[in-house]
Formats: sequence, C-alpha cells, structure tokens
Amino acid sequence: MASDDKASGNPTAAEPGRDFIRDIVKADLDAGRVAQVVTRFPPEPNGYLHIGHAKSICLNFGIAEEFGGRCHLRFDDTNPVKEEQEYIDAIERDVRWLGFDWGQHLYYASDYFERLYGWAEDLIRKGQAYVDDQSQDEIRANRGTLTEPGKNSPFRDRTVDENLDLFRRMRAGEFPNGARVLRAKADMSSGNINLRDPVLYRILNAPHPRTGTTWKIYPSYDFAHGQSDAIEGITHSICTLEFEDHRPLYDWFIANLDVPSTPHQYEMARLNLTYTLLSKRVLTELVRGGHVGGWDDPRMPTIAGLRRRGVPAEAIRDFIKRIGVAKANSVVDAGMFEFTVREALNKTALRRMAVLRPLKVVIENYPEGQSEELDAVNHPDDAAAGSRKIKFSRELYIEQEDFMEVPPKKFFRLSPGTEVRLRYAYFIKCTGVVKNAAGEVTELRCTYDPATKGGNAPDGRKVKATMHWVSAAHSIPAEVRIYNPLFNRPDPSGAENFAADLNPNSLELLTGARLEPAAADAKIETPVQFERQGYFCLDRDTTAEKLVFNRTIGLRDSFAKDVAKDVAKEKAGG
Ligand code: ATP
Ligand code: MG
Repeated sequence: MASDDKASGNPTAAEPGRDFIRDIVKADLDAGRVAQVVTRFPPEPNGYLHIGHAKSICLNFGIAEEFGGRCHLRFDDTNPVKEEQEYIDAIERDVRWLGFDWGQHLYYASDYFERLYGWAEDLIRKGQAYVDDQSQDEIRANRGTLTEPGKNSPFRDRTVDENLDLFRRMRAGEFPNGARVLRAKADMSSGNINLRDPVLYRILNAPHPRTGTTWKIYPSYDFAHGQSDAIEGITHSICTLEFEDHRPLYDWFIANLDVPSTPHQYEMARLNLTYTLLSKRVLTELVRGGHVGGWDDPRMPTIAGLRRRGVPAEAIRDFIKRIGVAKANSVVDAGMFEFTVREALNKTALRRMAVLRPLKVVIENYPEGQSEELDAVNHPDDAAAGSRKIKFSRELYIEQEDFMEVPPKKFFRLSPGTEVRLRYAYFIKCTGVVKNAAGEVTELRCTYDPATKGGNAPDGRKVKATMHWVSAAHSIPAEVRIYNPLFNRPDPSGAENFAADLNPNSLELLTGARLEPAAADAKIETPVQFERQGYFCLDRDTTAEKLVFNRTIGLRDSFAKDVAKDVAKEKAGG
C-alpha cells in the first residue's frame, strides 16, 4: 500500500473509518454483546511516546469517541526499575497534545497491586501457582524450545501451605532479589511457550514511583495486564501482534480467577516506518548515549520530538487514519508521513522569505541609502491571510545555490548576463562577480529594471526563474537547523547494532541565515513556509540574542532535485 501511494504521490486511506477492529466493535454493539465500548491505552512509563504509540492512541480513543464509549489511560507501571514520573508526565502531555482526553479515567496498574496479590494467593490455594526456587537461568533452560517440551521444576509440587507461606514471606521482604519467583502451574509441555508455567511475581527490592517501598515483589506484565483490563471493564483490549501468543495465557488467568469482567483481546499490526526505529529501548539508548539532544530532539520519532519540530497533531492523526489498521505487519514509507505533514502545513502555514545560505547582491543602479516597501501575500490560496510589506534596497541576499558562474544547460537561475525575477520585487540582471583570494564568489553585481516593479515587465518579456531574497540591512540573522533522517538505511538494524546505521548528517546547522522581519514573528511549534525552502518553526532554544528555527520538512520539489543531479553530472564530467 505504502509504495503504491508513494508512486502516485497521493496517499489516500484504504477505507477511512473502517477496519477489522471497528467492524468487531460495531458487531458487538449491534448484537448487544456489549452495552458500551470501553477501550484503553496502556503505556508503560519507561520512555516517551513515539509515533507507533500514536497509532494505538488514535485507535483506542478514536473508537471510544466514534461509538459513544470511553477510553482509559492506564499506566502499566509494573516494573519500578525502568519507570519514572518524568515519563508519566510526558505521556499525559503527549496524549493531550494529540487531541485526546481520558476525562476522569486515569488509572495505574500499581493501584491494583493488592487485588493482583490476592488473585495470586487464590491461584496458590487452587493449586494453580507455586513458588519456584530455581535461578533465572535454570528456569530459562528448563522451559524447553519450540520443538521440545519444558521440564517440570523440582519445586512444582510444593504444598499449598508451603507455597502460601513462602509467597507471603516474599512479600514481607525476607528474601533477596531473584531468590524465588511465583509461577503459574499451567502446562510445561504446551506448544505455546507462554503457557509453560509463566512467572507471576518477582522479588524486587526497589522503590516504586507510586507505591514507594510498600512492595518487595512485583507482578509480571503478563499477570497484571489482562486482570487490569478486567478490573476496568475493558470490552475491547487492543494490542500489537507480538501479544497474540500471550492471549491464551491471559484467557487462562481470566478463566481461573474471580474477575469482575471478561475482556477480549484483539491484535493489530505495529506501525513500522522506513528510516526509523520505533522501539523504546533503542530510543532510550539514543538519548542516554548522547546521539540526540534528548527525547524531544526534533530528529526523534517521539511525539515530543515531532511536536518540537513543528509537525501538527492534526497531521499525525491524518497519517494514522491513512495507514489504517491491518492484521499483518508491514513497513510504511516515511515519505508517506512527510506527504501528510506537507499537506497539512501547506494549508495553514504563512509564507515568508528567508535566505538560508546568503550570497550578497549589490544592485548597482539602485540609489545608496534608499529603500522602498513592496507588497507580499501571506498565503497564495487564502486571501483572508492578508499581505505584508517587505523592504527592498540596494544590498540584498539571495541563496548561494541560486547563482552559478558557469551554469550547466538546465540551470535557469542567476548567472552572469541572465535575468531573473526577485519575488514581489523586480527583474534583476547579473553584471559581474566579486571573488575572494581563494577564487570563491563572495558578492554579485546586478542591475534592476525599475519598470518591472511587482515582478512583471511592461514589454511582456519573460524570465525563467523567480527567486526569494531579503534586504541585507532589513533582514534578521537566525540559526536554522535542518534535519535529515536519523538513520541512513531504510531498514536500520534494531537492537545492539543501530549505532552503525546512524546518519552522521542528521543535523545540519546553518548559522548565517537571514530572515525577513515578519518571519521572526513566528510562534514556537507553529511553522511558516520559507518560500522555496520548506516549512520552519521557531525552536524553544531561541533567546533574546539568537533566533533558532527548525526545518519541519522540505518542499516537494523534484525539479530542483533533477537540476541538482544534472549539475552534479556536469561537474563530474568536467
Ligand atoms: P516498545 O516496543 O517501543 O518498547 P511497547 O509496546 O513496549 O513499545 P508500551 O508502553 O507497552 O510500549 O505501549 C503501549 C501501547 O502502545 C501498547 O498497547 C502497544 O501495543 C502500543 N504500541 C507500541 N508500539 C507500537 C507501534 N509501533 N505501533 C502500534 N502500536 C504500538
Ligand atoms: Mg509493551
């Protein structure tokens, strides 16, 4: 789907608003199997949310909204070693920013620790759980493989009383970390490894961000997750495909425990994107290893990073709608995300002129010390956005790449003797170049035609290029940060090897950009379009001394790319 869409340059939703999960929800409501749909988004607070989570958020909150139900935000905070309050706060902020609201339905798995503990004792009393003294390695070794059944633990047949006593002493903190675990007595020969006596509780002498030092044992994710859903009356428990094999275990718990409701789990494909790794573990390592500036570095695929970069929440929601919800994993083209962002920004972003890599131009026949105001429209498709005045004067800046002293055949911009249009201003012609000792062009000498004010010649003569520019004296300096993909391969290696695939040029720092004054009025996180360059927003690193802009995204401009290729070819061929 993604590649077809890319080829046509026009991604559209497979079937907007319809997918297999929504079909199930609708059927359950129609048949009266559920009275009200209740979903949840269950993040573990061990990192910031990324765009993959946005898929789950949009789906869970979206379904609740569309079918008149509700969606809970539940923190699956069962592992205190990795979880932090900072992540809880960031997750709440990001879900809200994405446009969703859980009302009073904010929950924590840690709120259920006492009930989960009670259920664990119930299993022990029913002979369905036991305390195992094997080490972690022994447990792993005895679990068997896909082709071989597991081996029963020598501690599997402990009496109920012994198990209860040991489990209570685990809770009381009598044993060191890792000394014992509580396991379900399920089926060591099951074809599904998840059913081979999974661990329910671990000893962990670690303070929890919410329960403090109350607990010395913590439930496993598998033991907490389904029961938390049952406590909250979740009707449709949506997760990603890697949990499909866990479903029989969740159902085993639900069937064997006295839980208040029976949630059903549905699995969908994870979102994967080219040039991107959506794994909290890798993202954590990027932050800890200093490969990026933080969780909200604009190169990160995190919600916080995308937001800081200038991506509107609306574009993320649109993108998620377009990719749909499938039952088979796939990789979505990052270009499709960019298309959606560009489309959203094209509608809303005000147009401004900014020169990212300035080359000075002196208009020799324009009087020294003089300037004039010209009209520039703020948005070509939105008259209501109005217009602004921009200053023209004798000394200007244009983009370095808009000039070539010896132009190849298809280069239509400025070169000695050619005439071009300066947007909203005049036709200018290049009459000479000034070079430094190294032979590099440092300044252009040009003339302008006063009869072409506003950008049209009364004699009807045409030019082949319209270029952006700023007045040297009236423009404002800024730092501009250009972001390129964080990884230089469409399929970066996950896990340990991601560092080798990091793109060393993911951040280009342009320190000498010049902006028209109106561009400096931009708001943080709200991009404007720098004409011919792309969409840019003010970064919060901006100070009274220095304006800092992020490039949210470049403009689609395949023509410019072709020219660049031609230029490169001609250069290579001498
Ligand atoms: P990671 O694998 O990056 O560590 P996770 O799945 O462990 O992510 P959780 O905090 O447990 O992170 O995720 C919360 C919810 O978001 C889960 O229901 C999970 O299935 C869903 N989710 C996580 N990553 C994606 C993704 N790439 N696409 C769709 N849903 C996702
Ligand atoms: Mg998870």
